[in-house]
Amino acid sequence: MNANRKILFIVALMLIGLAVATITNVALNFRDYGYNNAIEKSKMTAEIVRDGLTAHMVNGIMDKREFFLGNIANIKDVQALWIVRADSVIKQYGEGMQNEKPRDAMDRKVLKEGITVREIREDPKNAVLRVTIPYTATAYGNPNCLTCHNVQEGDVLGAISMEFNINEIRQTGAMTIAKIFAINVIFIIIALWVTNHYFKPYMKLFDNLQNGIKRARTGDFSFRFTTSLKDAGSEVAEQMNTLFQKMEDTFGGIKHNLNTFASRSNICSSDPLSTAGVIIQELSDVYKFKKTIEHDANKDAVYDRFIYILKEKFHFHHFALYEVDKTTKERKLIHITDHKSFCLPSADKDTLECRAFRTASDVYSTDFPNICANCAEDKEYSCIPFNINDDLALILSYSAKDTETIEMMNLALPSIKNYFEAAKAVIESRTLMDKLRDSSLRDGATGLYNRRFLEEFIDKSSEQAARSNMSYAVLMIDIDYFKMINDTYGHDAGDIVIKSLSEILVHAIRKADLPVRYGGEEFLVLLHNTTPEGALSVAEKIRTAFNEKKFQFGNDTVQKTLSIGIAHFPSQADSIWKVIKFADIALYEGKHTGRNRVIEFEARMFSGGDQF
Ligand code: GH3
Ligand code: MG
Ligand code: MG
Repeated sequence: MNANRKILFIVALMLIGLAVATITNVALNFRDYGYNNAIEKSKMTAEIVRDGLTAHMVNGIMDKREFFLGNIANIKDVQALWIVRADSVIKQYGEGMQNEKPRDAMDRKVLKEGITVREIREDPKNAVLRVTIPYTATAYGNPNCLTCHNVQEGDVLGAISMEFNINEIRQTGAMTIAKIFAINVIFIIIALWVTNHYFKPYMKLFDNLQNGIKRARTGDFSFRFTTSLKDAGSEVAEQMNTLFQKMEDTFGGIKHNLNTFASRSNICSSDPLSTAGVIIQELSDVYKFKKTIEHDANKDAVYDRFIYILKEKFHFHHFALYEVDKTTKERKLIHITDHKSFCLPSADKDTLECRAFRTASDVYSTDFPNICANCAEDKEYSCIPFNINDDLALILSYSAKDTETIEMMNLALPSIKNYFEAAKAVIESRTLMDKLRDSSLRDGATGLYNRRFLEEFIDKSSEQAARSNMSYAVLMIDIDYFKMINDTYGHDAGDIVIKSLSEILVHAIRKADLPVRYGGEEFLVLLHNTTPEGALSVAEKIRTAFNEKKFQFGNDTVQKTLSIGIAHFPSQADSIWKVIKFADIALYEGKHTGRNRVIEFEARMFSGGDQF
């Protein structure tokens, strides 16, 4: 039942209830009125008869009373009237007329007990009120009853019985009730029509709202609300339409953007809002993972985090992660959850025996049993290759005891690939770092990377940096008036100062950052993904720490200062070499403006045009 019908039903029910109450009330009132009216009439008639009979008695014409009683009996609505003599009167004056004997039990009861008795006899056709009223002897009336009757005060002398027809009043009542009923029916019809006319547009709008909201819950905001109402009703519809339009525009955009992500994810829900929530949660998790591994110093730390995610987030219990060197075709096991290898020894010897690596596509045992000839697993398994770059690939193998479990695990693959994707750039850069880390590209005196390392690093990482939106802050550092140390305390003293600065640098930066001995007493630091404020704070930290360092040369305690120039890649220039040049320009700005300063590069400092 819709809302409009419900309201009409309730209104009708209330009006019908009211009508029934009114009609019942009127019916009862009419009955009471007819009854009371007849009783009053009976009392009056009884008094008239008593006075009449007394008058007959006093005037000695008691034998003429039949005529009088006959006339009284003709009073309207009096159906029958008779008088009854008590035994005391019979004893004194005889039995009287034939019809003055008690006619029924009611007459006898009244004569005996001296009380008025009333009774209504009703059937569908007739309604009769029977009243029998006693006449009691009294010495205080006029005339005094006791003067003529040999009775005591209060003795019953006789009674008058009357039957009143109360049919007419009953019929009038029925007519009135019929009229009231008709009026009520008309009133109910009018009231229902008015209610329907007035409420229907509201209920229609209400139904409209219900439908619109139901569709909105499934992410569909295309519903538009219409109403014939003016004022508040049309305002509500208008506001809802504006809201839905906004939701449709905004949510449409979000949905479109999320779909590009969701296509790589295993999230599927009929409710796009909850899908969006899940996708955003996953994006946030992947982002946090990416931010964390960016600060990991080496590739192994990144792999450890990835393994942690597989175990804790995806609940993988039996898996192995391999690293493949594409040039040498060597496959290295990074991690396995237990000692039992997934592959036959042949796959370890020759990477091309690994189907996932050779075909560069996902291998699922659920597609074909024994899909990989070199797999030692007798359970269900999946092997997923993941390309890092031209030199490196990873392979994730996992297994489960039954098809149902492996299929559940396969469902997590799109999400796992998101993590792989997020880790790709970091693995690539850490691989490069690891390769260079232990080579001859270090400065022997300080242990820092040398200028050749920097050249190679920039060479190999520039392309990747541009691809993966990496940013660097370059700090160019030079000791102020360093020559003076050499000149005053000798070359060894100069070496001590240089070594001390290199230690301060390593201490001030994160593991993922790169400190380089750039020249004699010139240093360069590449700060990875740092804001301008962060870079400035690291530079200040280095400057202050060096300034506070006290050197003891002979009897002299010496303190030195340094100047630092900062520039940012890619916000200030699109090549790292250009940014190094800008940092150098900022450094010399510092030298010229007093030394012992940190200066950030500004465009005004460089007027050399685009010559890099
Ligand atoms: P400023 O930078 O403040 O302009 O003055 P400075 O005195 O530091 O000037 P400059 O950069 O020209 O001097 C650098 C000197 O550092 C020149 C060189 O003899 C000396 N030097 C370079 N490498 C080494 C080294 O490995 N050990 C020592 N002891 N001295 C070095
Ligand atoms: Mg110097
Ligand atoms: Mg110098």
